[in-house]
Amino acid sequence: MIKNYKIAKDVKNALTLKSENPNAAFYAGGTEINRLNSAVKVTDVISLEGLGLDKIEDTKKGVKIGACVTFQNLIDSQLIPEYLKKSALYCASRTLREMATIGGNLALGSDDSYLMPTLLAAKARLLTYGLTEKGVYTEDNVPIREYHSYHREFSSTLLVGIILPKEDRIVLSKRFSNTAHSSSCVTVSFGAKIVEDRLEEVRIFAAIKSTGIQRYKDVENSIENDSFACVEDVEFAVSTKTSEVAVDDITSSSQYKSYITGQAVASMYEETKKIMSGKE
Ligand SMILES: Cc1cc2nc3c(=O)[nH]c(=O)nc-3n(C[C@H](O)[C@H](O)[C@H](O)COP(=O)(O)OP(=O)(O)OC[C@H]3O[C@@H](n4cnc5c(N)ncnc54)[C@H](O)[C@@H]3O)c2cc1C
Repeated sequence: MIKNYKIAKDVKNALTLKSENPNAAFYAGGTEINRLNSAVKVTDVISLEGLGLDKIEDTKKGVKIGACVTFQNLIDSQLIPEYLKKSALYCASRTLREMATIGGNLALGSDDSYLMPTLLAAKARLLTYGLTEKGVYTEDNVPIREYHSYHREFSSTLLVGIILPKEDRIVLSKRFSNTAHSSSCVTVSFGAKIVEDRLEEVRIFAAIKSTGIQRYKDVENSIENDSFACVEDVEFAVSTKTSEVAVDDITSSSQYKSYITGQAVASMYEETKKIMSGKE
């Protein structure tokens, strides 16, 4: 239960308040912080509501999304590409979508994350602010892949924005759950750049319930090198890799998670190839 609620005046003030009380959490939409049985157990919060991080802008570098933009804001904006709107709609409750923020979702990076696999496949970049032990404020622009790989190291970092680069990139995703409102067993995304008749900068990430967010680097490399003989080989490679990490839980068996992730990646790969052949 929240006992101490402070409203940060600006970004620097948010970081100062956090350094004074490292156990306090940044409070964006509050949907996870207030959720029953949430893993985020805090009594002290620092509200981000006064920081003006709720804008979506078209910039030279790409679409800039403030960290406090809600899922519903993403869906309602003309600047947001369809692939991200689709992922925002994975959150089936409109009430939740009107509160849950993109920054909160990335900071959680959960094993059933609605947005993280898609933003990883999209090669998004993150704008962050930090405060060093010596009291120096730092400002950074990091690839989301780095944020994902070193998630723990970023735990005191404030996310201020997300940049979707302006490049011609295909991003597809699929989510599997028992009902629209249930936790997903797998949410998987595939991203690639079409360069003539080749796929480059392939990114495949899956949020696997009870395991975490998994990258399929070997499969990405093999697709880039065009070394799969057929789409069934892609499916097999992804299923095999998933079976090494997936576990049984309430959402599904480990076998199902492995099977469905392989199927999903294979079908997104095929769809991308079709788009590519349409471009030739
Ligand atoms: C019933 C229910 C079901 C849910 N199901 C799912 C689900 O299936 N998949 C899923 O991904 N999520 C789920 N959630 C969790 C949540 O709704 C979303 O992940 C949401 O996007 C979190 O955003 P928020 O703004 O509400 O975060 P908050 O609750 O405000 O904060 C969550 C965490 O992120 C940190 N944080 C927030 N903003 C920032 C920032 N700008 N910089 C750094 N740290 C920050 C906070 O300190 C806190 O640790 C569910 C929530 C509920 C209530």
